[in-house]
Amino acid sequence: AKQKSRGTISLYQPEMDQQIRDRRVLHQDLSMAIRNGELSLAFQPQAIAGHSVAESEIIGFEALARWQHPVRGQVSPAEFIPIAEESGLIVEMGEWILRQVCREAASWPKPLQVAVNLSPAQFMHGDVVGLVHSILLETGLAPGRLELEITEGVLIGDFDRGLALLRRLKALGVRISMDDFGSGYSSLSYLQAFPFDKIKIDRAFVINLGRNPQSAAIVRAVIDLGHGLEMSIIAEGVETLDQLTFLAKEGCDGVQGYLLGKPLPIGQYAGLVGRAETM
Ligand code: C2E
Ligand code: CA
Ligand code: CA
Ligand code: CA
Repeated sequence: AKQKSRGTISLYQPEMDQQIRDRRVLHQDLSMAIRNGELSLAFQPQAIAGHSVAESEIIGFEALARWQHPVRGQVSPAEFIPIAEESGLIVEMGEWILRQVCREAASWPKPLQVAVNLSPAQFMHGDVVGLVHSILLETGLAPGRLELEITEGVLIGDFDRGLALLRRLKALGVRISMDDFGSGYSSLSYLQAFPFDKIKIDRAFVINLGRNPQSAAIVRAVIDLGHGLEMSIIAEGVETLDQLTFLAKEGCDGVQGYLLGKPLPIGQYAGLVGRAETM
């Protein structure tokens, strides 16, 4: 509600004020976070879907940003990424993340896959192709080991530009996955139009696998659809053995979720990446 005359506040919403203040403060803090070394990365295993955890071989990781705020402690990326997006900070932050991820993965004795999230602003506004290309050269990471995750929302707005970007990225040899599949709109037309290598089935469907038959039907259909389009399928948010065995039985290619491993500093997965030491 807008104020009509000075001094008269018609609808005072203290919680909203607080939220706006919070965001403003967080934004100021966030602009210092990279320099202050408060940002870090967590890595979550991605595995081939098997009939048990032991049979689900880990073939890579998704990198997830973490912010340790000096006063607030851990701030969720679900909170700070949108702030970084709105303020344009995402360009600098996204570049830092991509560089760290590629450097890290290039240092692993085992040549596992690594996936990194690209935000809409990063994808559509910066020179994402130039950035990925130069960071691959700089770090020496084999392009085939890098996967870029984007949500379908990223491509909304400028179809031609989106398609051109995807093609140029793929020409570098990196893979592209559609994140959070099923959580937005127009998913089917996007799948037809854009050359994704992989579909990530949104956690919302996986959670409901055992609870409602509709989710099972949707997951089955997405697996078939993706395979029909020669894309591979990974399910997110796999927390239970029942979910894993259902997905493996239905021919889902990959799985990711707490059952296989939580997002943790890479030192916690030293053995998996082929490093002897544990940090
Ligand atoms: P996302 O890309 O869909 O990442 C998956 C989220 O699900 C992560 O949350 C992960 O910790 C969580 N997750 C994974 N397995 C499970 C599970 O079994 N159960 C449950 N309940 N959750 C699980 P996180 O790390 O809080 O990240 C939230 C979102 O923030 C990400 O969603 C992504 O959209 C964004 N984000 C995180 N890191 C980055 C980044 O480096 N760049 C950009 N642009 N966005 C990022
Ligand atoms: Ca993701
Ligand atoms: Ca996701
Ligand atoms: Ca998500």
